[in-house]
Amino acid sequence: MLARTCYVTLPNPMDDEQYKRLRAEVATRRTFAIISHPDAGKTTLTEKLLLYGGALHMAGAVRSRSGGRHTASDWMEIEKQRGISVSSSVLQFDYQGRHMNLLDTPGHNDFSEDTYRTLSAADTAIMLIDCVKGVEPQTIKLFQVCRMRGIPIVTFVNKMDRDGKDPFELLDEIERVLGIPCSPANWPLGSGSSFVGVYDRWRNTTLLFDGGLRSQRVGMHTIELDSPELAEAIGENALAKVRDEVELLGTAGTAFEREKFLSGQVTPVFFGSAMTNCGLDPFLDHFADLAPAPRARITTSGILAADDPAFSGFVFKIQANMDPQHRDRIAFLRICSGKFLRGMNVLHPRTGKTLSLARSVQFMAQERTVVDEAYSGDIVGLWDPGVLRIGDSLCEATPVEFEGIPRFSPEHFVRVRLDDPLKRKQLKKGLDQLSEEGAVQLFFDRRRLERDPILGAVGVLQFEVIEHRLRAEYGVRIG
Ligand code: GDP
Repeated sequence: MLARTCYVTLPNPMDDEQYKRLRAEVATRRTFAIISHPDAGKTTLTEKLLLYGGALHMAGAVRSRSGGRHTASDWMEIEKQRGISVSSSVLQFDYQGRHMNLLDTPGHNDFSEDTYRTLSAADTAIMLIDCVKGVEPQTIKLFQVCRMRGIPIVTFVNKMDRDGKDPFELLDEIERVLGIPCSPANWPLGSGSSFVGVYDRWRNTTLLFDGGLRSQRVGMHTIELDSPELAEAIGENALAKVRDEVELLGTAGTAFEREKFLSGQVTPVFFGSAMTNCGLDPFLDHFADLAPAPRARITTSGILAADDPAFSGFVFKIQANMDPQHRDRIAFLRICSGKFLRGMNVLHPRTGKTLSLARSVQFMAQERTVVDEAYSGDIVGLWDPGVLRIGDSLCEATPVEFEGIPRFSPEHFVRVRLDDPLKRKQLKKGLDQLSEEGAVQLFFDRRRLERDPILGAVGVLQFEVIEHRLRAEYGVRIG
């Protein structure tokens, strides 16, 4: 086992000015993912984050299943058809001087492998809980992955505009089922149709929601906790209950300590509604402060600081044919130290080769922009001619390798039968490329004469995606 306290120092390619700039840039990066059970509201929240971050001007209807508007993060054809989020993409936006990288992860259980890998690129997670359903199975799994990786978790209890479980009951459930102490950062004012705002415990302010269009950013204004306006909005009895609860929390609630949060020993809890926007403002403001800057990473030769001047990063996802117009393959790289410059030459330790990173992109739904420079914490998409694999590292000079990109054993298998035998070549190409993305694993049965490939996957829905993509992207039908 490596000595975990050993710090790696890579050769410094920067002068003092450049290094100062690097440190300032890295300090603004916030790279995070949202974890939740399907239907808890991840897509809705993602969209609202983009809206509040100014990256979208109007939030669309959440993945209307019968066509119409789709969310910005939903770009694959199959996602549109099925109304599920299949692939993880990366969305960027600025918020209060921070450069946010939101790693979008599929919520469906069958794609959990992809999600687990994506989490290896995140520094913080927002855990979304549906206030009606509480802690659900997929939340538990994803929470455990975050805990294993030491990722700090901020909890957002969503759908407070619906009549859900009592807030104390929810906190108790999170603590009991997930085993993490909760420290409520705010407290809901009213519930269901009378959910009108939150009491911000950290700032000791009461915020009343201004109401308005769901597709646009709506503010909240400050009032007194004993104001008649609030009594009128939620009723005298409900207000008296809120006052008692706030007082109780002051004496009996778990105190929030940043160090404990960063080491995953406490989760701050926010209440709100991603759909109506009530509670989003204070949540985002606090989240921008809570989310840590890029953390140091464990490599096979010791710990590497995020602001180490030499460039390094690892591939956590590969996606073929993101743009159907141009057959291409994009490797998503999480930068772990230094600065990325388009056109730079880097070392690829697995093959010992030098690669030129000439084609690099960032994504916003279907829009891609060329990235000329990026910093530790950022995610860049690299155009890949077929050299890179999930888990590969790239670095500036000295080879470094990062610990633990998880690989999972497949739990389901299917034998692929080709409809048109003349398409064997296309099938091979398609399966080779799609399996390199890590979504399915490819096997051959040596005991049989016929060499139909066997696909293995963690979830059965993966097979449907592969079937669809083989047809759409490689013109091959399989049975
Ligand atoms: P995902 O599967 O986690 O991405 O969830 P979606 O964002 O697609 O939301 C699932 C359903 O819950 C949709 O019908 C949303 O409109 C709804 N929803 C999301 N957030 C809220 C909320 O705050 N309140 C209510 N009442 N419904 C919500």
